[in-house]
Amino acid sequence: MTSSTDKSAPQAGARPSRAAIKAVRGTRDLLPDQTPLWNRVEAAARAVFSRYGFGEIRTPVFEATELFARGVGEETDIVSKEMFTWEDRARAASEKAQSLTLRPESTAGVVRAYIEHKMGETGALQKLYYIGPQFRRERPQRGRYRQFWQIGAEVIGPPSSGSESPLRDAEVLEMLASLLDELGVRDWRLELNSVGNADDRARYNVALREALAPVKARLCPDNQRRAETNPLRVLDSKDEQDQEIINGLPKIADYLGEASREHFAEVRAALDACGVKYHVNPRLVRGLDYYTRTTFEFTVQTGLGTQNALLGGGRYDGLSEMLGGPKAPGIGFAIGEDRLILVLQEQAKQDAEAAGAAAGEEKLDVYVAPLGVAQNAAALALAKELRREGLSVEVGDGSFKLRKSFDVADKVARAIVLLGEDEVASGVITVKAFATGEQVKVPRAELKDRLRVR
Ligand code: AMP
Repeated sequence: MTSSTDKSAPQAGARPSRAAIKAVRGTRDLLPDQTPLWNRVEAAARAVFSRYGFGEIRTPVFEATELFARGVGEETDIVSKEMFTWEDRARAASEKAQSLTLRPESTAGVVRAYIEHKMGETGALQKLYYIGPQFRRERPQRGRYRQFWQIGAEVIGPPSSGSESPLRDAEVLEMLASLLDELGVRDWRLELNSVGNADDRARYNVALREALAPVKARLCPDNQRRAETNPLRVLDSKDEQDQEIINGLPKIADYLGEASREHFAEVRAALDACGVKYHVNPRLVRGLDYYTRTTFEFTVQTGLGTQNALLGGGRYDGLSEMLGGPKAPGIGFAIGEDRLILVLQEQAKQDAEAAGAAAGEEKLDVYVAPLGVAQNAAALALAKELRREGLSVEVGDGSFKLRKSFDVADKVARAIVLLGEDEVASGVITVKAFATGEQVKVPRAELKDRLRVR
C-alpha cells in the first residue's frame, strides 16, 4: 500500500548505481494518498451528469494533427506551440505515414466522433461527457501541467433538436454551478460573455485590426503577429505590458447583431430564473478559435494563485462544418480536474486548521496479525472471510514482533485482530479497537459485527 524510498548510501564495494529515471517534466504520479479525492470528484461528476441526461464518450488520446489544426485553430497558442506532435511512420505498404498529435483538448475529438458515427442522424440532441488526460507543452507550474485531466461535456445536435437554444447554454451553466456546489467549492465566480456569430466576429475583427494598426509596434512580438493573423487572440494575451492597450480596444458587445444579443439576453434570463449568479466580462473570448456566441469561465479565489481558471467553455456552432460534418450547433465545457483537486485540498486544509485538527485520513476496518508464521495461512483465510463481508482488511505477517504488528496496525487500521495458535484452535479471537483501547475476545462468527461498529 505504501511505497518507501531507500535513502541509504551505496554499500562499500557495490557497483555505482545508475541514475534513477524520473517522471517527465510537467507530468506527475498520483499516489494512493491522493487518488481517493480524484475518485470522489469523478464519481460526483458522473452522478450529476447522469441526472442531467448525459452519457459517457471515450475517444482516443491521439488523433490526426489536422483535427486540431482545423478545429482549435492554427493561430492559437495550443496549436502553434503546445502540441505533442510526431510523424507516425507507416508499418506496412497499406498504411501511410501521417502526422499525429496527443490530444490537447477533447471537444474536437468528440465532434469528430459525432460526425464519424452519424450521431446527428438520430435527430436527437446528444449529451456527452468525458473524463481523461490532455497534453499541452506549457511551462509547468502549480496548477499547470503537460499532462493534465479534464472532465468535460458537450451538448450537440442538428438545429431541429434544439441545440441552438439559449436554454441549453443556461442548463449547462446551471449544471456546473450545481456540481461545484455539490463538491463544496466555496467561492466560485462565473464569468460570462458572448463572442457573437461568424458575421459579428467578422465585423469585430475589422474593427480590432483598425484599432490595432496604430499601436501594433508597441505590442510584444507574439501580439504583433496575432494582430495580423487573428486579432481576437490578442485579447487572450496575458502579457503585462500590453494590458493597457488591450483594455482600450473595442469591445465585442458593441459589434453583436440583433440575433446574438437576443440569444445572450435569453441565456442570462434563464440563469436569473435558476438563481445562478454571473458576471459579464466583455474581455472573455477564450483561447480557441471555434467559439461562437456564449463563452464562459468559472474562476476561484482560493488555492490556485494566478492559474485561477477552474473551467472554461462555450458554444461552437460552426465546428462540425469546419471538420467536414453536417450543421450541428453545440455547447460544451472542460473542467481542469487537477485544479479542482487543488482547490478542494486547499479548502480541506483551511477547514482542518480552523477546527484545530489534522485533515482526516481514511483507515481500514481491521488489521489481521498472525502471531507466528504458522498462523499466516489462517490469517489470510480470516481476511478473505472478512473482506467478503465488505470489511476493508490488511494482513500482517507472522514474522513480525507483536510490538511491530501493533505499530503498523495503529497507522493503517481502526482495529487489530490477533491470531495465535490458541485463537485458531478455539475460534475465539482477540480484537483491540484503537480509538477506545478496549481489548476483547469474541467468537469468530461475531467478529464481523464487532468490527463494523465505528
Ligand atoms: P481550455 O481547454 O483551455 O478551455 O481549458 C479548460 C480548463 O482546463 C482550464 O480552465 C483549466 O482549469 C484546465 N487546464 C488547461 N490547461 C491546463 C494545464 N496545462 N494544466 C492544468 N489544467 C489545465
